[in-house]
Amino acid sequence: MTHPTIERIETRLVDLPTIRPHKLSVATMYGQTLMLVKVYCSDGVVGIGEGTTIAGMAYGPESPEAMKVAIDTYFAPAMVGQDATRIQTLMAHLGKLVRVNHFSKSALETALLDAHGKRLGVPVSELLGGRRRERVPVAWTLASGDTAKDIAEAEQMLEVRRHKVFKLKIGAKAPDVDIRHVAEIKKALGERAAVRVDVNMAWSETQAARAIPALADAGCELVEQPVASAAALARLVRRFPVALMADEVLQGPDSAFEIAKQQGADVFAIKIEQSGGLFAAQRVAAIADAAGIELYGGTMLEGAFSTIASAHLFASFANLQWGTELFGPLLITEEILTKPLDYSDFELTVPAGPGLGIELDEARVERFTRNGLTKVTR
Ligand SMILES: [Mg+2]
Repeated sequence: MTHPTIERIETRLVDLPTIRPHKLSVATMYGQTLMLVKVYCSDGVVGIGEGTTIAGMAYGPESPEAMKVAIDTYFAPAMVGQDATRIQTLMAHLGKLVRVNHFSKSALETALLDAHGKRLGVPVSELLGGRRRERVPVAWTLASGDTAKDIAEAEQMLEVRRHKVFKLKIGAKAPDVDIRHVAEIKKALGERAAVRVDVNMAWSETQAARAIPALADAGCELVEQPVASAAALARLVRRFPVALMADEVLQGPDSAFEIAKQQGADVFAIKIEQSGGLFAAQRVAAIADAAGIELYGGTMLEGAFSTIASAHLFASFANLQWGTELFGPLLITEEILTKPLDYSDFELTVPAGPGLGIELDEARVERFTRNGLTKVTR
């Protein structure tokens, strides 16, 4: 039997506005850039993948622009003519040709899985072992930088039953100011909502050791990446009555194994891009399960394609104790799909159609496609 091959690969940068400035300890985001990749196969099937970062290059070594260049220059020539159905073999081959570049690899692997799912008439979740749930809970991030605005936003999310778990981005201000911010929000929301924080590595170990008990007293249930190093995080774990989550230090299966070995986190925030693709993220989850570490489905504030790829994977996990934060598409003002995603009753529905089960609105996305690599500044 002749297998379909990859005929060509097309990349583009799409600049989309966000609903409000999104403030993190590392940067403030006013928009989001998606790198969309299309893989055209000889059987006429086209798969779409996405590479997105948090705040350009503030978060990690890859930018959407760098992903485009890496794919156009290095990945695509090595993929054209290859068997489009042997995804793991092809990704292993690319792994030898290109070191790291986890985000680019995740985008390409997503496109290949989308294409193969469409080809076989099954959702991507079935290619990953089958889904265990049709919907995943979705947390929302409050990051306006203003306590009263955040409370109003949370109240509105509860009112429309979209989110009841809120993650607060802290770390840019003094710990005392942040702790007050968290306490006021938790006090306003009470038992109606869960409150968690993401420090994005902003604290020193001693700052974290002082702040975490106060956060626990304020009713915060989970502290994400309070410090930068895996060693410091490991020293903080189990000292406080609150779960500590690894995010930035988790860079795929090798790092997951190192953290698991030293029992360096209570929870892993799994991200397909940071892991180096869906299969790599699956291995991170297996390591966590084996080590008794709990799981959370993380986001790089991705658009619909990478969000839904993540949802297919998280739907297949045996454990997803802390739910997900797959709200990326809700942060963007523009709909890029022909049919919007179903966010309702505090959850996201994992699409049931072949491949990712979503369709790009070509005309709409064309309007936001960047001409060349350089972003036009506002
Ligand atoms: Mg995080």
